Amino acid sequence: MNLREKISTVFQKRFNESPAFIVRAPGRVNLIGEHTDYNDGFALPMTINRSVWIALRPRNDKKVSLRSLNLPNSAEFSLNKIAHGKNWDEYPRGVAWALQRADYPLQGWEGILASDIPVGAGLSSSAALELAIARAFWAVNRWDWNPTKMALLAQKTENDWMGLETGIMDQMVSANGKKESALLIDCRSLDFNLLPLPKQITVAILDTATRRGLVDSAYNERVTQCQKASNFFGVDALRDISPEKFKKQAKKLDPLIRRRAKHVITENVRTLQAAEAMRAGDANKLGQLIKESHLSLRDDYEVSSKELNTMVEIANTQTGCLGARMTGGGFGGCAVALVKNSATPSFSTEVAAIYQKKTGLKAQIYLCHPTNGAELVDEKAEG
Ligand code: ADP
Ligand code: MG
Repeated sequence: MNLREKISTVFQKRFNESPAFIVRAPGRVNLIGEHTDYNDGFALPMTINRSVWIALRPRNDKKVSLRSLNLPNSAEFSLNKIAHGKNWDEYPRGVAWALQRADYPLQGWEGILASDIPVGAGLSSSAALELAIARAFWAVNRWDWNPTKMALLAQKTENDWMGLETGIMDQMVSANGKKESALLIDCRSLDFNLLPLPKQITVAILDTATRRGLVDSAYNERVTQCQKASNFFGVDALRDISPEKFKKQAKKLDPLIRRRAKHVITENVRTLQAAEAMRAGDANKLGQLIKESHLSLRDDYEVSSKELNTMVEIANTQTGCLGARMTGGGFGGCAVALVKNSATPSFSTEVAAIYQKKTGLKAQIYLCHPTNGAELVDEKAEG
């Protein structure tokens, strides 16, 4: 049974009718452009065929009631006065709060949620959750759905409601994604371009079976270090510094901050080159840039981990792999690899077997393809 059928069945049992709406929003994998979004830079993620699904029906009052089939504790709250929650219900509360603050009038609803995006693995289960909830509110209350506006509100949920200094990439791609395409995002203007994936390759997600743990502080520390670097250069964000300017002026910069800045500045260049490579259908070049991105994240930005490095090294030595790197915030979670279609079956089994031998851990390998961004997938006919 797929997730859509599962939530419908559970919904039917609980509410004695079929859901009025089914909405979904996808997770994402970032191909390249890591830790660039909060520096006003470029990122090149794609949505994946793993999503948060919600089956729901409107309520006549101001209550929201949502059960997740993945995590304990339901989200139960009133839209009249939204208070903070204690667990994952912070997300629905925060999205409702952000929508209300932006003057969207909200009526309540109730439903069932399920997701096949692993949590905290760097595939952005949180942005998918936020966008699915925004779509649920939209389904019940109807307004002009503007994906980028919704992405910004979802980001505000994390920034202003939960106090996490996360960038805009995750929400942008979960809201604006399209089948068969990756998204080159300009995280300053929020313009984006849809780029087709090279036909001869498959995107493989390599889950190290390690999770990043409590590293919100390490993430916020990177954000602060980047701000220090942009202050040094006298610009708004590291996006404004070219590699040439960096080379000329960075000598006086504190060595640690210099390495952090170097990653962001070179990663922006790599990301634009990767977009060019995709436009030209040059999968080899794309793979090469992905490999370089990993080294930069490992050595200059220092957000990789032993297991991520092991996974990437294993992947990169397989025939048919054009390039692999850690993906997402880092410190655990997933790597991403570009693999020639013809090599994918042996790639998956080989990588998992060698990884287990080296680390004792059981990796999950997901071969994935891009899907549409947050959408209404089903609506019950009236009457
Ligand atoms: P990720 O890298 O997956 O986005 P985050 O820490 O940003 O990791 O977000 C994970 C959080 O999102 C979980 O701790 C939980 O609060 C919430 N979440 C994700 N998936 C679900 C789900 N299926 N049901 C309930 N909450 C979820
Ligand atoms: Mg997240």
